[in-house]
Amino acid sequence: MANDSNKFQAIISHSKEYGFIFPSSEIYDGLSAVYDYGQWGSELKKNIKDHWWKSMTQLQENIVGIDAAIFMHPMTWKASGHVDNFSDPMIDNKDSKKRYRVDHLIEARIEALENDGKKADADALQTEMDRLLKESDYAGLKKLIEDQKIKCGVSGTSNWTDVRQFNLMFSTQLGSVSEEASEIYLRPETAQGIFVNFLNVQKTGRMKIPFGIAQIGKAFRNEIVARQFIFRMREFEQMEMQFFIRPGTQKEWYEHWKQARMQWHLGLGIPAEKYRFHDHIKLAHYADAACDIEFEFPFGFKEVEGIHSRTDFDLKNHQEYSKKKMQYFDSEINQNYIPYVIETSIGLDRTVLMVLSQAYTEEDLSTPEKQDSRVVLKFPPKLAPIKLAVLPLTKRDGLPEIGREIMDTCKQHFKCFYEEKDAIGKRYRRMDAIGTPFCVTVDHQTKEDQTVTIRHRDTMAQERIPVSAIASIVNGQLI
Ligand code: ATP
Repeated sequence: MANDSNKFQAIISHSKEYGFIFPSSEIYDGLSAVYDYGQWGSELKKNIKDHWWKSMTQLQENIVGIDAAIFMHPMTWKASGHVDNFSDPMIDNKDSKKRYRVDHLIEARIEALENDGKKADADALQTEMDRLLKESDYAGLKKLIEDQKIKCGVSGTSNWTDVRQFNLMFSTQLGSVSEEASEIYLRPETAQGIFVNFLNVQKTGRMKIPFGIAQIGKAFRNEIVARQFIFRMREFEQMEMQFFIRPGTQKEWYEHWKQARMQWHLGLGIPAEKYRFHDHIKLAHYADAACDIEFEFPFGFKEVEGIHSRTDFDLKNHQEYSKKKMQYFDSEINQNYIPYVIETSIGLDRTVLMVLSQAYTEEDLSTPEKQDSRVVLKFPPKLAPIKLAVLPLTKRDGLPEIGREIMDTCKQHFKCFYEEKDAIGKRYRRMDAIGTPFCVTVDHQTKEDQTVTIRHRDTMAQERIPVSAIASIVNGQLI
């Protein structure tokens, strides 16, 4: 079994080798922090999307989905605070010219202290960093970096610039003639597409508070330190839900969504000890409470989802900037008000990485006679790119024809894969490597009694079942 530090590298290589994730425009040496999903990665990603979408818009009767445009009126980002506030404090090393996010630099130092057994020093440093970030005390942060003698990993020096804010939004021009073109932004979050449509949806859907609007879509951030594979990308996808509530009820709804979202995560079959909540100390400009759900990636506990109590910040500001009323009439209490909002915001790509990290397993299958091992992706069946592989034992004797019939029936229900080349053991291993939960093998006995062997990915156990039962057995595992 690979240890944690090289397990991550193994996952990256495996993702590429088996058609999950490729560096973007790789033939031109790739583009930093941008990735493409291959044939199995895109299936996995879509299954995660569908699972989230269903949990929000099908299983909850008071949540509906929308699909807003990536481009939005530039005023949106003034109103949302992103033009003025969506920035990270950065610092450059003058010798290497390398730029760092201040919090990342100090966090690395905290981790090093912890690894040295200096827990009290690590805690003190964390507290001091949180305080300075909260107060936006940039001179203080620089002094802290210097006092801690933090060095650049490239130049090895502590020759730092001042700490500066760096806006993370990408801008581009709308319009073909440069004089007429206006600057617009690629959205850095999907949430604003929901806020500006709040009344459209509420009125046309006759929605009653409390209700939610969900959306899945691309977001773009010019991340300075883009690293860790698809964990931090410049173009990524978010699955967000804004839940509109009566002012004053935000505490209970915040707790409700914290628990509900954790249940969703546990429903992926990932054990509870792989998750933890992390409460925010420095709150974003829009929030009155916020926490992250963190998952234990091979590189440590990191955020996959944020749950934010956004108050009426966004709707109030849109009302102010657009001069359009963003109010809701609550007939139960006979009052007009701007609703408060609880947001749940999960990164789709980070969820893909989480599911991949959890699924990736190296198994030693050696016996005294023979060395053997396999890499298996133990995806929950509902998320697996392919649900069923149909494998005739040989290419002759009518076995492929029976296999094709099984394919024709089963592919109506779920994604199947047909293969007749290579020894059966090799074919099983290839299916293990992409996480296919079931393989059925058509052999000569099939011709006599209409049964096949079904092989279970995780246990490798095999049993004979009637051909007519295949679809319902697999379907039964996909809920
Ligand atoms: P981080 O602190 O890691 O930069 P964030 O707190 O800025 O993340 P949010 O603004 O709360 O993130 O966005 C919600 C979710 O979107 C995050 O929990 C994460 O899963 C995802 N996300 C944010 N930025 C990125 C990115 N650059 N690449 C991939 N996913 C991202």
